[in-house]
Amino acid sequence: PETKLPKVGTTIFTVMSQLAMEHGAVNLGQGFPDFDVPERLVQALDRAMREGRNQYAPMTGIPALRQAIAAKTERCYGHRPDADAEITVTSGASEAIFDAVLAVVGPGDEVIVLDPCYDCYEPAIDLAGGRAVHVPLDPHSFAPNWSRIRAAVTPKTRLLMINTPHNPSGAMFGEDDIARLTALLRDTGIYLLSDEVYEHIIFDGRRHESVLRYPELRQRAFVVSSFGKTYHCTGWKVGYCVAPPALSAEFRKVHQYNTFCTFTPAQFAFAEMIEAEPAHYEQLGAFYQAKRDRFRAQLLTTKLKPLPVPGGYFQLVDYSDVSDLDDIAFCRWLTIEKGVTAIPLSPFYETAPQGQRLARLCFAKNEGTLDAAVERLLKL
Ligand code: PMP
Ligand code: GLN
Repeated sequence: PETKLPKVGTTIFTVMSQLAMEHGAVNLGQGFPDFDVPERLVQALDRAMREGRNQYAPMTGIPALRQAIAAKTERCYGHRPDADAEITVTSGASEAIFDAVLAVVGPGDEVIVLDPCYDCYEPAIDLAGGRAVHVPLDPHSFAPNWSRIRAAVTPKTRLLMINTPHNPSGAMFGEDDIARLTALLRDTGIYLLSDEVYEHIIFDGRRHESVLRYPELRQRAFVVSSFGKTYHCTGWKVGYCVAPPALSAEFRKVHQYNTFCTFTPAQFAFAEMIEAEPAHYEQLGAFYQAKRDRFRAQLLTTKLKPLPVPGGYFQLVDYSDVSDLDDIAFCRWLTIEKGVTAIPLSPFYETAPQGQRLARLCFAKNEGTLDAAVERLLKL
């Protein structure tokens, strides 16, 4: 049959996780923690199910969770969104990204994405009938090149998609990026989709430049986050979108017919958890920073060269001292022959930089898992 997504195969995350399983490799590929979710959250979920919170939630999310998100947003970013008009709970950040794109992008529209970018962005744009315009981030720092982004803007540009902290590199927007972004969008009708799923996984005292801090940006933005990343439960698939009332109204038109609502018991559990233990998200950076530092120190004893990681839970490594293979071939070889699974970067690009020799390792893992991987990587 004619396909609507001719460029799309099976996602690299599925491909590499399957290969890891087949070969018994230590899987540092697909990004997910291998440790437990907070005990209070499990208990709250269990209680919600036993108390009969098992039917459809309100389409926009249960009020207690939207209130908790509003309060947390104010605490973190000094701005309290309206829980009724501006916050929508979704089945993961993935659903929120799809809903936002489908809500505002139509045939002939252009959407600027910054490569490397998360692999669901372009298919969402394609299904909406739009066209992704790829602008590369700096190949070394993964910082946005604002003059190149400005040059990509045309009268057809409808949406700009950003991601900070960034998957796969961990790069984070600075205040200067926010200033350039604000100037770029001023006096245009371009919407902004800010993917902030790693908002609390930030290191070395850096500040997360959430779009929600900035009135001029947030009045045109969909800001997306995911409880999967913050609460070690990627399999629960609960996220949310914050957007001004008019944009939320359009967003909800899609959401209500896409999923209608999100897993009810988890909404009760997150509402309780966010209010009762703000320390969890406040200390998430410190929790992951210890893992990052330990893993990096170990990697420095191998032939892989770790790049800086300002945020997120991925470590990029340069493998050019080990192999001349392209990144997909290298990651297959590393899994099959060396027993460690990584994610290649080229699937995150329209056109990856020539000769780039980078792979992504996830350090959201117990020490034992990382130690087992390092033991194998020492033999490279
Ligand atoms: N955006 C980015 C940058 C991600 O890394 C992920 C998770 N891999 C998502 C969105 C999707 O999040 P969720 O699992 O909540 O759908
Ligand atoms: N976000 C995860 C990652 O980047 C993968 C999510 C998925 O498997 N679709 O590894």
